[in-house]
Amino acid sequence: MKIKCPKCLPKEGVEIPNFTLKHKQEIIQFLDNSPMNAINYIKAEFSINSTEAKFIVQHINKIQNRCNRCNFKQLDNEYGICPKCNSLNINWKR
Ligand SMILES: [Zn+2]
Ligand SMILES: [Zn+2]
Repeated sequence: MKIKCPKCLPKEGVEIPNFTLKHKQEIIQFLDNSPMNAINYIKAEFSINSTEAKFIVQHINKIQNRCNRCNFKQLDNEYGICPKCNSLNINWKR
């Protein structure tokens, strides 16, 4: 699946790997410790480049259903564009 963010480069978006629930949980755990660890983990596990891994990690919500950028609190899709600030949110279950 390809995800795009109207606010960020690359404009054409990033193809995201088929993350399992376990991957998502692991990535979130890494992210809570250090975004760099989450990026390195995704790069190592899924053979994608730094730009793509960074793009994914930057868009994962720190709090579920809450936009990282503007704090809008009612996001409901797993991958969606915030209706308030128009940025991509990866809204994984926590
Ligand atoms: Zn973005
Ligand atoms: Zn927002």
